[in-house]
Amino acid sequence: MTEQTAFDTVLTAGLSWLYGTEQPDNAWQHHGLLLPVPATNRLYSFIPANDWKCPVVAVDVAKIEWIDNGPNELKTPANPLEPGELEALAAELRTLGFKVTSAWNGHPQTTGSVGLARPAHPSLVAAVDRYRAGCLVHPGRSVFCDCDAWREGFSRIVQPSLAPQPTP
Ligand SMILES: [Zn+2]
Repeated sequence: MTEQTAFDTVLTAGLSWLYGTEQPDNAWQHHGLLLPVPATNRLYSFIPANDWKCPVVAVDVAKIEWIDNGPNELKTPANPLEPGELEALAAELRTLGFKVTSAWNGHPQTTGSVGLARPAHPSLVAAVDRYRAGCLVHPGRSVFCDCDAWREGFSRIVQPSLAPQPTP
């Protein structure tokens, strides 16, 4: 699998999870879907709803190497996102037909995010709302509960299948 193919596969899987996957009404979701591309040392996140209820696609350097700048100096990343990498991700999303509202961070940082205008699948947004409501069995523990019922709600979220595409 080439790096470009791995990236395309992850992007396709993440977007179809955000927009095309029906989630059960007894599942909940918080952090979004994380899909790694080890060949390029990247981790992509597909976050269903930010504070204004729209999805975010984020790219992070999976394994950061730090430059030691000497005592009392902050370490700086040796392998940040490439210049233009975040812009290329936003452009790719536009090419796929998604309206991009904003992009933030990116080079020389190790993380970058692209905001999308179209809300995620209603059943996924509902799952995020169920997460925010917290554990219904133990309301006092809210989202910090660790009972079986609370944990099982996360496991009921439908994950994408990342089976390699058949080659024509
Ligand atoms: Zn509970």
